[in-house]
Amino acid sequence: MTGQLISDEPTTAVLSGVRLAKEIRAEVTTTAATLAEAGVPPRLAVVVATDDESTAWYVRSIANAASKTGIRCDVIDLGAGATPAEIRSELASLSADPSVHGIMLQTPLPGGATVEELAASIAPEKDVDGANPVSLGRLSAGLAAFVPATAAAVLELLEHHEIPLSGRRAVVVGRSNVVGKPAAQLLLRRDATVTVCHRYTRDLTAHTHPAEILVVAVGQVGLIGAEHVSPGAVVIDVGTNPTVDGGLVGDVDETAVTGMVAGLTPVPGGVGPVTTALLLRHTVESASRSTA
Ligand code: NAD
Repeated sequence: MTGQLISDEPTTAVLSGVRLAKEIRAEVTTTAATLAEAGVPPRLAVVVATDDESTAWYVRSIANAASKTGIRCDVIDLGAGATPAEIRSELASLSADPSVHGIMLQTPLPGGATVEELAASIAPEKDVDGANPVSLGRLSAGLAAFVPATAAAVLELLEHHEIPLSGRRAVVVGRSNVVGKPAAQLLLRRDATVTVCHRYTRDLTAHTHPAEILVVAVGQVGLIGAEHVSPGAVVIDVGTNPTVDGGLVGDVDETAVTGMVAGLTPVPGGVGPVTTALLLRHTVESASRSTA
């Protein structure tokens, strides 16, 4: 999908992440095997402190993907009653363990604790989901750092589908530290002209309608409909909302915008699989650096 974004073409490309995720996992598998042969088997630790079912499902999917690529994945379940001090202590001990290369702290967290506070205990060089404020600060400053995997997946998908970014009007809906803000930073880094919308944005349509690239990361079914987009826009739907029948839908009303926008990521099968693959890529990158 190169060249002119705005066109009269009434078709909408499905910007799948499945093939890209497969390519990334294949590359990770090769690197993980080389590392294991060199005596550095890559290892990811996921710290969980919740009984939430959808979190358990997500963590299982990371562990499965990790084991298929040759990465050992330990899920450390501290239970929903864990205190912030216990979580910090676990993160610090994993940070000090030379056999662990990647550390992830899963949300939700108990008792109002925030990822921003607790993730400061993850060593930045093992912070494969870019949650430590140091990683986020380095990203803002344009310095090398692990980037939150979901935000990185948005950019990987745009690149994979050859969407031009330089000078384009990009609008990000959502400003969380895990998706919206880092996605905006990455788009800025690629010379897009970026607008960030959030829950207090007045007249969302006025902001999203001119977007050539629209990234939606809110967690609200049907937030973005036909009135929010222009013909020819490229829409990345990060939202994942569980349905009553056990499925998943995004934030964008797929039926309403299909035939109007130039491209749309499916949910599931868009940003999600690329996010998981990038977490694994970050883990082998960290393991590779640990040998240098
Ligand atoms: P969050 O709750 O931390 O942030 C939501 C953001 O949406 C906030 O910045 C808020 O200001 C904004 N918002 C809320 N209502 C709005 C409105 N009416 N108009 C405009 N903005 C509004 O959520 P998050 O962690 O950033 O996740 C966002 C979505 O992305 C969720 O559905 C989550 O499940 C999904 N997600 C998907 C992946 C993946 O791999 N596909 C990974 C992480 C998160």
